[in-house]
Amino acid sequence: MSTEEKIETAENKPLDFIREIVANHIKENKYPDGIVTRFPPEPNGYLHIGHAKAICLDFGVAEETNGICHLRMDDTNPTKENMEYVQSIIDDVKWLGFDPSHLYYASDYFEQMYQCAEKLIEKKLAYVCELTPEEFEEYRGNSERPGTEPPGRANSVEYNLDLFRRMRAGEFEDGAKVLRARIDMTSPNIHMRDPVLYRIRRIDHFRQGNKWCIYPMYDFAHCLEDAFEGVTHSFCTLEFEIHRPLYDWVLNNLDFPNPPHQYEFSRLNLSHTVMSKRKLLQLVKEKHVRNWDDPRMPTVCGMRRRGVPASALRNFVKGLGITKFNGLTDVALFEYAIREELNKTSSRYLGVLNPLKVTITNMPDDFCDELDAVNNPEDPSAGSRKIPFSKELYIDRNDFMIEPPKGYFRLSPGKEVRLRYGYFIKCEDYVTDENGEVIELKCTYDPETRGGNAPDGRKVKGTIHWVSAKHCVEAEVRLYDRLFTVEQPGMGDEDFLTQMNPDSEIISTCLIEPALANAKAGDRVQFERVGYFCCDPDSTAEKLVFNRTVSLKDSWAKKK
Ligand code: ATP
Ligand code: MG
Repeated sequence: MSTEEKIETAENKPLDFIREIVANHIKENKYPDGIVTRFPPEPNGYLHIGHAKAICLDFGVAEETNGICHLRMDDTNPTKENMEYVQSIIDDVKWLGFDPSHLYYASDYFEQMYQCAEKLIEKKLAYVCELTPEEFEEYRGNSERPGTEPPGRANSVEYNLDLFRRMRAGEFEDGAKVLRARIDMTSPNIHMRDPVLYRIRRIDHFRQGNKWCIYPMYDFAHCLEDAFEGVTHSFCTLEFEIHRPLYDWVLNNLDFPNPPHQYEFSRLNLSHTVMSKRKLLQLVKEKHVRNWDDPRMPTVCGMRRRGVPASALRNFVKGLGITKFNGLTDVALFEYAIREELNKTSSRYLGVLNPLKVTITNMPDDFCDELDAVNNPEDPSAGSRKIPFSKELYIDRNDFMIEPPKGYFRLSPGKEVRLRYGYFIKCEDYVTDENGEVIELKCTYDPETRGGNAPDGRKVKGTIHWVSAKHCVEAEVRLYDRLFTVEQPGMGDEDFLTQMNPDSEIISTCLIEPALANAKAGDRVQFERVGYFCCDPDSTAEKLVFNRTVSLKDSWAKKK
């Protein structure tokens, strides 16, 4: 985060209800040792833009209050977790502009958590339950029907301790027994009806190996992780609101002094994409996309590869604010934030997507001019360059029409346009192939118009982009668009895979000016009048590859 952004958030009044709560706690000196937050991803997938919202809140609040934000791998469920995901999470947090160095793993607390469970048993607040899954459901009741007390609930502390230790020792089958909290089987909040704290699962953990065959449940583990780490403010999304009484119950009954508190905010839902890890994994596994970092994915690494600047992501999230209202955010808003940022920061170049050859008939064969171009009019520090101009050029097919409609200011027979950074040219004739398709334009140029103005004061309305045929470089361009054609893929009974946009990736070639011949992966540019592009890591010395990050205008608004 830039100092400017930091000062803005620190000096103004709190931006949202969470920051207001924290500001009040600071005023009251409720946490004399400082504010501690955490971002607790489960390393079972790559981070997406929803996580980016949580990251900006968790790390943002810590940064603004001179506190600390822990990056904690919530790795208590060994089934789908691995180190690849851990590393990607660290990389993404860093790329977003935050410090991932306060790194913790929930699995490091397994022994401590186990001791807490024994303590609850000793306090008669937990017991081993041997119901089958069907019986378990039956006893728990539902929203209409209160639960009933399961057998064994009144067993002695010694009996329960013995069973729980034998669960740990591996004496029982997976699923044969669970440890449950002893709270209230008639609570209107179903999560308080003696929730499960531990279950038996013989799965190797990616960090703990086969050391454990019992694993803690989220509701038991998460509050303990927060408490062990001295977290003061634990932010999570609204669906956990109903779990908060359990969060507090566990910590109160284990006598943590000044325990952490959970605060809930609404999650980010973005239109025209999916964010469930299961669906993202399916897209990758079934090869509907290139990988987790496919530029169409809503993952942080996907957006990075697509060319979205981290600052655009942060600004977007900041603009959304933190509230308790669940809604759907139109992806057009995100695209707007990307354009805003790229407009300020990317240098402009000329690139032609659908080339149409132009021959300047009144120019000697070996003539070559070097035209001056400022790289970024929004940023003088970006410097300038020369663009070669010669007898054979390419322009975009869409910039020529044989019979132009009224208001078409580009090229047509007998008409004159300005070449960007260059001269006026006039279309004298055109050549067609056997199908009647235009394959070449014969134009003349006016040597007096170098720099883009005519000394006689005559005006042209159109300015078009172009490249010199002899000097340009061919690049692959991957034109990305929304991955899904509908706002909320998978709504109702729809299979989200059937709602994919068949044109979400169009591979094409683009002729680009030679100044870009040495582009490096990650370089972001604007191809004038075409869009914002980012050089892809697939680029080689032989072939450059550019991803279209976003078009210059919202083409979907028109379609709507
Ligand atoms: P799951 O629990 O299904 O694996 P998840 O998306 O909740 O998926 P976590 O790794 O548990 O993934 O999420 C880490 C943190 O990110 C949590 O605190 C969660 O509340 C937050 N988070 C996840 N999705 C969003 C979202 N769409 N908007 C805001 N925050 C989110
Ligand atoms: Mg989760």
